[in-house]
Amino acid sequence: MNLIEFEKEFNTEEQCREYLFKLRWKDGYHCPRCQCDKAWQVSGVKYKCHNCGYQTSVIAGTIFQGTHKPLTLWFRAIWYVTSQKNGTSALNLQRILGLGSYETAWTWLHKLRRAMVRQGRDKLNGTVEVDEAFIGAPGKGGKRGRGAENKVLLAVAVEISDKKIGRIRIGVIDSASSENLHGFIETTIEKGSTIVTDGWRGYNGLTEKGYFQEIKKRKAEDEDTLLPHVHTIISLLKRWLLGTLQGSCSKEHIAYYLDEYTFRFNRRKSKSRGMLFYRLLQNAVQLQSTSYDDIISK
Ligand SMILES: [Zn+2]
Repeated sequence: MNLIEFEKEFNTEEQCREYLFKLRWKDGYHCPRCQCDKAWQVSGVKYKCHNCGYQTSVIAGTIFQGTHKPLTLWFRAIWYVTSQKNGTSALNLQRILGLGSYETAWTWLHKLRRAMVRQGRDKLNGTVEVDEAFIGAPGKGGKRGRGAENKVLLAVAVEISDKKIGRIRIGVIDSASSENLHGFIETTIEKGSTIVTDGWRGYNGLTEKGYFQEIKKRKAEDEDTLLPHVHTIISLLKRWLLGTLQGSCSKEHIAYYLDEYTFRFNRRKSKSRGMLFYRLLQNAVQLQSTSYDDIISK
C-alpha cells in the first residue's frame, strides 16, 4: 500500500470505522453481553444489540476509546508512524498532522507504542546471545560495566541464525542479579534454546532451567567482540534514541521506547509497510485506552 492507495482506502470516517469493525469482529459482530450476532448501527461508532439492546461502540476497549479526534486523523498517524523506517518524534507528528497540541501528539505516540507489543507474542529460540548494557546519559570516560550509576540497565537478547541477527527482545532490569536475568530469559526465550553469555555469575544455573548455555570467556579488554550481536543491537538502539527522538526519552518511559524499537527492528525486512500498519491496528483494537494522565503517572 502506498500513500495514494492509503488515501483512497481511508478517506472517510466510515471507511476507517468499517475497517476497525472488521478487525474487532472478525467473525462478524457479537454483543459483548448476550453474544447475539445482530445489531443496529445507532450513530457513528455506536451499535445496539438486536436482542438485549446493549449499546457498544467499535472503539470501546481499543486505544481509540474516548477520542475526540476523527479516526481518519488517527489512521494517518498510524500510517505515518509505520511508513517511516525509524519512526517519528512527537514534535514531528504534531507538525505533519497539524495537531493543536504537542501533548496530543506525544500521547498518541505513547498509545501506539503500547500497541506495538502483541499480547502472548512468541518467544525467541535457537541460539540466543544475552547480555546487559547501560544506556542513557553516557558521560565521557564514564564507568562501563555493572557498577555504572544514573543509567538504565537493559537486558538484551538477540537470536542468531546463520551467523546473522534474527529477532530481538529488550527489557529493563534494575540490577544484573541472577533473579532478574533468569526472569528476563524465561519470559523471552524458549526452553531448549542455547543461551550465549559472558562469564557473569548472574547467568549461572540456566541449564537447570532447561536451557543449554555457551559461555564466552573474556580474553581481551574489548567487550564489543565478546558478544558481537548484542553489541550491534545496543549501538543501533542508542543511535535510534538519539536520532529519532533526539535523546528526549525519559527514564520513566524507556520501556515503551524499547518496545517501539523492538517492533521496528523485528520487522525491518518486512517488504510491505502496509503490513506494519495492519499489525499495529490489529493490536490497537485489542488494547484498552490509556489517558495522558495514566501515561504521566507511570
Ligand atoms: Zn445483546
